[in-house]
Amino acid sequence: MNLEPPLIELEGIGRRYKGKRGAPVIALRNVSLRLHAGEFVCITGPSGSGKTTLMNILGCLDQPDAGAYRFLGREVQRLSPDGLAWLRRKAFGFVFQNYNLLGSATARENVEMPGIYAGLALAPRRARALNLLSRLGLANRAGHRPAALSGGEQQRVSIARALMNGGHVILADEPTGALDSQNGEQALSALEDLAARGHTIVLVTHNPEIAARAGRRIELRDGRVVKDTGPSGKRRDTLLAAEPLSGQRPAAGALTRLLQAFRSGLASLRANLLGTRRARAMLSVFSILLGVWAVATMLSIAEGVFRDTLEQVSRLGADRIEVSPYLWRNEPPLSLTVEDARAIAGQIENIRRVVPVLAQRLTIRYGTQSLESFVESYAAFTPGPGADSDAPAVERGRFLSPRDNDNRNQVAVLGWGAADHLFEDGLDPLGLHVLIGNAPFRVVGVLAGREAFAGTAKWLTEQEGRRAVIPFDAGAALLHGNSSPSSLSVFMQDPLQADATKSAIRELLIGRHGREGFRISFMGARVEQVGEMRTLLWLGLGSIGGIALLAGGMGVMAIMLMAVAERTREIGIRMAVGARRRDIAQQFVIEAIALASLGGLLGLCAGLATSPLARSFGLPVAFSPWIAIAALACAAGTGLVSGILPARRASRLDPVAALAALG
Ligand code: ADP
Ligand code: MG
Repeated sequence: MNLEPPLIELEGIGRRYKGKRGAPVIALRNVSLRLHAGEFVCITGPSGSGKTTLMNILGCLDQPDAGAYRFLGREVQRLSPDGLAWLRRKAFGFVFQNYNLLGSATARENVEMPGIYAGLALAPRRARALNLLSRLGLANRAGHRPAALSGGEQQRVSIARALMNGGHVILADEPTGALDSQNGEQALSALEDLAARGHTIVLVTHNPEIAARAGRRIELRDGRVVKDTGPSGKRRDTLLAAEPLSGQRPAAGALTRLLQAFRSGLASLRANLLGTRRARAMLSVFSILLGVWAVATMLSIAEGVFRDTLEQVSRLGADRIEVSPYLWRNEPPLSLTVEDARAIAGQIENIRRVVPVLAQRLTIRYGTQSLESFVESYAAFTPGPGADSDAPAVERGRFLSPRDNDNRNQVAVLGWGAADHLFEDGLDPLGLHVLIGNAPFRVVGVLAGREAFAGTAKWLTEQEGRRAVIPFDAGAALLHGNSSPSSLSVFMQDPLQADATKSAIRELLIGRHGREGFRISFMGARVEQVGEMRTLLWLGLGSIGGIALLAGGMGVMAIMLMAVAERTREIGIRMAVGARRRDIAQQFVIEAIALASLGGLLGLCAGLATSPLARSFGLPVAFSPWIAIAALACAAGTGLVSGILPARRASRLDPVAALAALG
């Protein structure tokens, strides 16, 4: 007499389906059964008597409408969908009449699949799958896809799959139904062998000869148990003793599953791009590409404009205010004077120096050499007495001094380029006289900057290197015939006080001239303006990119929804071997991300490829790593968002309905 608690206990189980014309179809009525560990049970009965329904309920793929199901004393109805998935994974192994192997995977990969959801790492998983295959005489078939295998071989692959996570209870629903007698015999003896090793086997069959070989026979008719030979020849279950069913969560599971999802994402990417849906897949990849390209290009142009302006401003000096004559209400512009510069330097707070600007293009001659040059008449005014510490540096001689100005000395400081050009063979220009216009000037210095400008644009080097600087008053009197500066450059001590300084300058000049007629602009403000422009560029080009990404995302979503519909049976198989809803959802989200990321990667390449083109049109494109990261994140985010709905739909599928789907 058996006193152990049963492995499985069904009590008054009922299951009804909605029929075609609203009338319910009763598939099981009041079924009560006790199955013990290690039993070999055979279920027989005519077609439609409820055998498959009973198997689905036993294997936790389906839920009864009435009655109680206890597995090792535990109420199965109380388990969550994930709890049921855990039980399917740990306790059950399904063997179907039509094998239900994944056509796109090899025999070994099919056998491995339950191990993935159990969190088994790649190497032991592969080893175990190969071991199971060779136990079933399929060692040399591991790399074949199901289409290349005979029916009997496919059924043995599915038996190996059922054993992957242990397979305490093997549920085989007409496993020999589609096989010829020889192959059927092989599959059956494999199951008998398992029974001998302590597995609990529940086998559905029509064949009375097969049924006669089972230790216990149960017959169904119209959803009722009409015959049960009862437990007999019960074997001890060595499996449960060796490996008790406990622990909800596999230890090293998460990473393994994630890696696996990533691999399957790549595989499905390949399938999407090569399969029958490739035109649509490529179209959505292309729209993502466009979106990412637009986003990346827009970010790098905005960045380029910003950097250029920053550089320009720092070259000019972010501490600089420019005062220049300006048409004011149709009155003629004011003439600025050197005295204005002196007054600004002397009377206003926060001033470091004021430089009146007066420049003219003139010819400089020495002997037979001549050169077109920008000649600047130079003066600098500082708030107190003291040297002009900000005066331009020289590589030879000295720069102009305030005394040169006061005494109207006819002296000049030449740019390094001008000196090289006028004085050949390394002749020392210091002390020599050149003709500027028609007036003689003694060279007292050569400006520095040869190295500093070496890396910059050619025109800039020429302009800077070929200029010449002479005292303001001498220049105004002798050369320009005009002593009015074209503008005043005002350098501040503290650029943060620019606004106050600007209004002080305005008031002072209005006081001196009696009216407005000049523009006062702070160079540092350009940085702010360009910052605003960058934001506008982001918004403008960003929305174009956003629309393209949206279109691409919709394409990805459509493809994934289609994939869920086409791969419903695959989803059912995965659920039957113990995938949780989360595993299924994760797989589809990762597939969507893979598709979108491919578009993102291509879009990034397109952006990199077109940026020299944009640069040749004069657009300041500055590509940087963070732009690449941002663009890829946009693509992956689009994939994530467009994968959520299909993933949800896939993970909510009913396992039994999904297994019944075509495809
Ligand atoms: P068997 O496997 O013994 O042939 P099933 O368990 O598949 O029987 O079916 C039992 C009864 O339930 C049958 O009458 C069948 O038509 C019905 N049935 C099974 N599945 C469904 C379903 N999804 N929707 C409606 N009726 C169903
Ligand atoms: Mg059936």
